This record gives sequence, C-alpha cells and structure tokens, in this order.
Amino acid sequence: MRKDRVKIAVVGAGAAGLGALTALLDKKNNFNIFVYDIGKTIESAPAADNPTQDWIASFYNQIYQKIRSRYSFKFPPAKTHFGEQIARQPVGKKFKIFKSETFGGLTNYWGATMLPFTDKELKNWPIKKEELWPYYEKISRLVGLSACSDELNQYFKKDFSTRPPLRPTAALNRLGQSINQNPSKGKFKIISGINRCGVETRENHPNSCVYCGECLAGCFRDSIYSARKTIREYLKDPRVKYRAGAKVSRLKEKNGLVEIELEDGQLEKGFSKVFLAAGCPSSTEIILRSIGFKDKLTMADNAVYVFPIFYFGRKPKEENKSYFALCNLVLGCLPKNEKAHFAQVQVYPNFDYLWRYNLPAWLWKLVRPVFGFLRSHIFWGRLYLHSDYSQSYSVQLKDNQLVMKHLSQAKPGKYLKDLISSLRSGINHNGFYFPPIPPLRQRVNSHYTSTIPYNGEKIKVSSLGEVMPKVYLCDSSVFPEMPAINPGFTIMANACRIAAKAI
Ligand SMILES: Cc1cc2nc3c(=O)[nH]c(=O)nc-3n(C[C@H](O)[C@H](O)[C@H](O)COP(=O)(O)OP(=O)(O)OC[C@H]3O[C@@H](n4cnc5c(N)ncnc54)[C@H](O)[C@@H]3O)c2cc1C
Repeated sequence: MRKDRVKIAVVGAGAAGLGALTALLDKKNNFNIFVYDIGKTIESAPAADNPTQDWIASFYNQIYQKIRSRYSFKFPPAKTHFGEQIARQPVGKKFKIFKSETFGGLTNYWGATMLPFTDKELKNWPIKKEELWPYYEKISRLVGLSACSDELNQYFKKDFSTRPPLRPTAALNRLGQSINQNPSKGKFKIISGINRCGVETRENHPNSCVYCGECLAGCFRDSIYSARKTIREYLKDPRVKYRAGAKVSRLKEKNGLVEIELEDGQLEKGFSKVFLAAGCPSSTEIILRSIGFKDKLTMADNAVYVFPIFYFGRKPKEENKSYFALCNLVLGCLPKNEKAHFAQVQVYPNFDYLWRYNLPAWLWKLVRPVFGFLRSHIFWGRLYLHSDYSQSYSVQLKDNQLVMKHLSQAKPGKYLKDLISSLRSGINHNGFYFPPIPPLRQRVNSHYTSTIPYNGEKIKVSSLGEVMPKVYLCDSSVFPEMPAINPGFTIMANACRIAAKAI
C-alpha cells in the first residue's frame, strides 16, 4: 500500500460492508481501503465435491451428536452452525438477540431470502425506488439470486433473478398453485411465489445445493451465500488492508479527517471517509459513544408468528426425498386498503432438524420414516409483520456500554385478525388447512433497524447516511422503519449506493 494515498475505512464485514466495499472497489481511484472487523471465524464447510448419500448421512450424524451433547431441549430449536449456536446478547433480563462478531456478519447464518423494497416500503426514505434499484441489480449479480418471475411480481414488480429458481417440495408447489388459483377473501389478497434466495442453484457448479435438507444445521456445501465469500476475495485486492480482530469503539473528527479508536485503546488516524457497517446494534453503539449521546433510542424488529399448515390430500407422486429446508414459498399478503402494511409468510417444509435436534440418535432412527411421511402433510408458516405491529428494543449507552431492553409489542389487534382470516381463506382449499389455533409469537427476531433513521429527530443523518462529518452510516440503523420484507438485500444495495455516491 502506498502511504501517499487517500485512506478510507469500512467498519464491518457483513451485508452492509459488502455493499460499501463493492462500490469502493468499483471506483478507479487508488484509495487505501482499511477493513475493520471483530473478525471471529466460523467453522468452514467441508464442501465435499461429489458426496455420496452415506457421506452426507455420516457427516450430519456427527453434527447431531454434537448438538445432543451440548444443548438441552428446545422447540422450535434455534439454527446452529455445525453444532455451534449463534452468539447472542442480552435484551433486558429475559431475552437475547443475535450478536454479530464473525467475518461475514449475520449473513453467515441467515436464511438468504432476498426481496427488494418497493415504493411502499420506501415511502419514508429520502430516495425513490429508481435510485435504489440499480444497486439491487448489481448486488443480485454479485451474490447470485435464485428466483423466477411468478405471482410475487404483482407486488415486487421485478425478481432480480440471476440463478435458476430453487425447487420447492412437490407438496409445497401444490400449495402455491392452490393459493394462486383460489382468491382469498377479506382485507388482504394472498399471492404465492417461490422463495427468492441467495443460494447456488446452478447444477454441477461448485457449491451447488444438493437438497439434503440439513440447511439449519449448517450447509456442508456452503451453498447459501455469505458476504464472507465475496469480501474474502476483495481482501486480495492490493488496495485493501484487513484489520482482523479490530473492534472499533469510537470515531473522532480531527482536522477534517477521522480517527478510529479501537476497543484496546489503539488510535488509527487520517481517514478521509469512514463507512460504518457494523450492523444496527454495534453501529449505534459506536455513534452514541462518538457523539456522547446519552438518551434512549428505539431499535425496530419484525414480529414473527409461527403456525402449521396441514395437507390432507394425496401425497404427490413426484414427491422426492431431497428437499430444501429453508423457506420454500413466500406468501405475499397485499392489503386491499392502500394505506395498510404489506405482510409476508415464509413457508417451510417439515424439516428433520426441527425434531432431530431434540431426539437421541436411537429414537430418531425409529421415528424418521414418520417425519419423512409428514414432510408432504405438514408445513410451517412464519408470518412477518411490519415494525408498527412488532416488538422493539430501547438502546442506551450506560457506563460506556450499550444496554438494550425489550419494549412490549405494539398491539397488532384487528390488523392481525384480518390478516389471518385472509390467509385461512386463501390456504384452506384442495386439502390444505390452516387450523383455527392462535399462531405462536416469537419474542424476538433478527431484523434490527431504525435506531438513527433517515427521518429521525434525535440524531440527524443525511440521505447518504452522513451522521458525523465524513462518517457514513450504511447499515439498517438508518431505515425509517422495518417493513415485513427481509432487510438483507436492501442493506447491501443501500450501502452500495451510499459508498458509490459519497466518493
Ligand atoms: C438466523 C438469521 C436468519 C436471517 N435470515 C435473513 C433472511 O433470510 N433474509 C434477510 O434479508 N435477512 C436475514 N437475516 C438478517 C440479516 O442477516 C441481517 O439483517 C444482515 O446480515 C445485517 O447486515 P449488517 O451488515 O448490517 O450487519 P451484520 O451482518 O451483523 O455485520 C456486521 C459486521 O460488523 C462486525 N462488527 C460488529 N461490531 C463491530 C465493531 N465494533 N468493530 C468492528 N467490526 C464490528 C461484525 O463482525 C460483522 O462482520 C437473518 C438473520 C439471522 C440471525
């Protein structure tokens, strides 16, 4: 690296870090780009080239043994990565949310559903859809987005497909067709389409998904996209220097440049611009410390309700044993009242992990055929609500540390009742059945946003996320609210837009 070049920093190597670095490396200027990340590593996937069924079975037998020896009963069980739970941090005394500290951030564990925000979700943003969509295009090419044009385009207009669509189970294909053929009643129109997902679906390609159904235990093929994969390649660029194990604590402006203070007290000086992409909780903590802000802020999330869907029809002849265990179908819930919020349901097959996590190996061997049979007869819906109807968290700096507390959920009341009623009328056809039991609400989810929003009063931020001179906040901290649509694709695209425009 030449010492006379302009110094730029990117803090965080997750979804937002990916977006910012992509834009910076696209520029022809010869910057010196420093990437700071806490940088813990996750266990790598063995990615066996052409694994036999026996190899896969024995690999996951070991993983489940590890899970059984480490963790107690939990239903539904949390996702794990090759037998390791994802790190969490406390929110008050009772709850915990995911903690991001690995190179690649939460994209090392995500479900990789990638849906864009439309004009409706961008209503309170300082930019229009047309300004963001070129960046969705760019990111979809970079990540590889398996999708196709289907009924979901009624709402999303564009699918940004760059890979073949993933293959839902035959029974879930039937459910999707049935929903689209039988108009729902009530306040929402329900449409169904195949999940749009950052997963390698090109046949015979390195990392291509083999539909082994073990996604929740960690993908042995590394088929699911992680920002880690691309950023690892970016680090080979001579303009980039990686500071692993560098937890950023505070940013200071001095003589028109920015200084970065690390947790261990080290000070790194002389940055022309800093792109802050440490994920909403961490970026917020860094900003609060940097500007000495002592008041409480609110962090948004999505409420998620889980419910079963039964199928009493005949098992599809073409049902195959292999399946994708993450979301297979997305049900879009389009409100007939223009002003009401869009909601979505992600539908999963009855994947083995749900049960096998909790059962000893000998018992699993006995009951496995039953769960195989049930794969065509039980599915799981996860209904996501807009942050207006969701739990949120207060965040505040106390004794120089971020303290979070769970704030009770805004009551979704009639909105939820109407939504569920429309979903039942859309689902309950051709042998599919959404039983009349209340869906189970998860207390916390994983879509943390909106602490320092674009339209906020407490801390001002420009449309490029400039929150302190030369410091650009480019993760979901700036989202004005958290719509029911997963944030990852928008975080990547918006960070890319910010870095492209700020330079
Ligand atoms: C189980 C799970 C499933 C999910 N599924 C989906 C999904 O299907 N679709 C979707 O869109 N979203 C999903 N999400 C959410 C999505 O993963 C996150 O919204 C997204 O990864 C956030 O990106 P980010 O770059 O803002 O933060 P992160 O991905 O959290 O990355 C932050 C980075 O900053 C680093 N860092 C943190 N603090 C510091 C510091 N002080 N100094 C230096 N570095 C620091 C971290 O090590 C990390 O590399 C899921 C999340 C989880 C946990």
